Amino acid sequence: MFMPEGKSLRGLYSFVSERTGGDGLKVLKALGDGATDDVIEQKTSFKVSNIRHLLNVLHENGIVNYTREKNMQTGWFTYTWYFDVDRTTQNLLRAKRRQLAGLKVRLTKEETKDFYQCNKKCRPHGFEEAFDNSFKCLECGCRLKPEKDSHKEKRLNELNEQINSLQQLLGNFESNEL
Ligand SMILES: [Zn+2]
Repeated sequence: MFMPEGKSLRGLYSFVSERTGGDGLKVLKALGDGATDDVIEQKTSFKVSNIRHLLNVLHENGIVNYTREKNMQTGWFTYTWYFDVDRTTQNLLRAKRRQLAGLKVRLTKEETKDFYQCNKKCRPHGFEEAFDNSFKCLECGCRLKPEKDSHKEKRLNELNEQINSLQQLLGNFESNEL
């Protein structure tokens, strides 16, 4: 089984934590190369009922999968759970690519948008809103002035930072795929 390391693994863990919470991540880390309920119980000290619930949540999110084996004497099945790295990676890439595309659209919109604000620093108004109200603040009635370039720059920088960190995360995975 391919197992990512370093930044890619941390990226996967934080994705799992976003989807299933910290306890879900603990169960995942206890799986190793594959584990039964009993082994997970020993490693996490969680109750078995809680472990089963967390495994279900992980399974619903496509993060874990299982193999089962029938005990010929008792007729019972033993489930061995494992981390489905490939599927989790695909889910993560899909979600992060969608998020990145959304941020890029927002950046393009914000780059072309001008905002107007009063001296009291009430909320910023878009051009149309400011124009419709004769460039008077809708909250205090003072005159609206174009937003300072430094404010706009700050907003755009924040968006750019988010975009860069997503691109870095995606880059880590894509270089592993080669
Ligand atoms: Zn105002």
